[in-house]
Amino acid sequence: MTATRVLVLNSGSSSLKYQLLDMRDGGRLAVGLVERIGERTSRLRHTPSAGGGESRERTGAIADHDAALKAVAEELARDGLGLDSPELAAIGHRVVHGGRRFTEPTVVDDAVLAEIERLIPVAPLHNPANLTGIRTARALRPDLPQVAVFDTAFHTTMPESAARYAIDVETADRHRIRRYGFHGTSHAFVSRATAALLGRAPEDVNVIVLHLGNGASASAVRGGTCVDTSMGLTPLEGLVMGTRSGDVDPAVIFHLARVGDMSIGEIDTLLNKKSGLTGLCGDNDMREIRRRIDEGDERARLAFDIYIHRLKKYIGAYCAVLGRVDAVAFTAGVGENAAPVREAAVAGLDQLGLAVDPELNAARADGPRIVSPAGARVAVAVVPTDEELEIATQTYALVGKANS
Ligand code: AMP
Repeated sequence: MTATRVLVLNSGSSSLKYQLLDMRDGGRLAVGLVERIGERTSRLRHTPSAGGGESRERTGAIADHDAALKAVAEELARDGLGLDSPELAAIGHRVVHGGRRFTEPTVVDDAVLAEIERLIPVAPLHNPANLTGIRTARALRPDLPQVAVFDTAFHTTMPESAARYAIDVETADRHRIRRYGFHGTSHAFVSRATAALLGRAPEDVNVIVLHLGNGASASAVRGGTCVDTSMGLTPLEGLVMGTRSGDVDPAVIFHLARVGDMSIGEIDTLLNKKSGLTGLCGDNDMREIRRRIDEGDERARLAFDIYIHRLKKYIGAYCAVLGRVDAVAFTAGVGENAAPVREAAVAGLDQLGLAVDPELNAARADGPRIVSPAGARVAVAVVPTDEELEIATQTYALVGKANS
């Protein structure tokens, strides 16, 4: 029997998201989430997707990631999908930071684990949890290939002119300070899916991808290769996000330390967790912000306007970076669902060939679709992202290559 299943794991500091995919058709056999790991109120929600099975929930203390993965394995086994199945080909892990070294998905061995660990200083919030997930899965199935798929990998093709900050080169190199970019799995998937939507090869198409979720980033993709992206050393740079500020003058930090008497930790929390839409209007959910705008709420209106202004600046910048743009693709929670955001983002940009057709833009649909008027010079598209499918596809391709 050929092994055709891939388990995708996305380990956060106190959560574990998982999907089991059948790579013959990309179908989901199971999806689930363990939350509040390490607390007494942990919760596992498991949905056997094949055949539309009912979700099951477990509550009560799940002490650590090891216990979480064992609980997931038990749930999968209840559906006849246990981790000991010979049909499981590999486990694919989302790893946030792969530095400059990991430009491709990589089969995990001790040296790879050591390198991911070495990157912790540049990804202190994410890489430790990702490592825990990989170590736990390895302990449970030591014989199975574990593949790390890096959020930064797609951006490693950025030229030095886009990747370097204009700061002293020796200092930057000593501390590995450069622009790495994130959400790469999504940008890779969406840029390819956009080319497919246009009926063209990725090599022939220049795309601006706008990944607008709770975190948000833009990328400029020339012929399938990333040439610029809005996130930098960390996911804080760039667009206005749910709780992150995106771009600010770095001197804001000195000012807050000197004049505001805030510690580095407090400023870090302010910019990462209490800024963005939340900081501007108290809400980070675009649905709620639109509802408040409809009721005449001025703070929500200003937050929306600041969000759109920043987005427009990046669209304009990436038109300049790419020279020729074939498509602008909106993706993730806001990009896929918020028609007013898409409309406002391209409003007034007809000189750049950008416009939406109001009816196409407002229509609800599931799959990838074009929302610009027929015959527009630049296609404006809504392209749902699928990071789990992309991680599974990359994992399966790598394992298949190793076995052939
Ligand atoms: P993500 O991080 O991709 O899961 O996106 C989550 C965000 O998408 C939420 O915080 C909302 O702001 C936004 N979102 C989800 N559904 C909608 C919707 N129907 N309309 C507007 N925004 C939405």
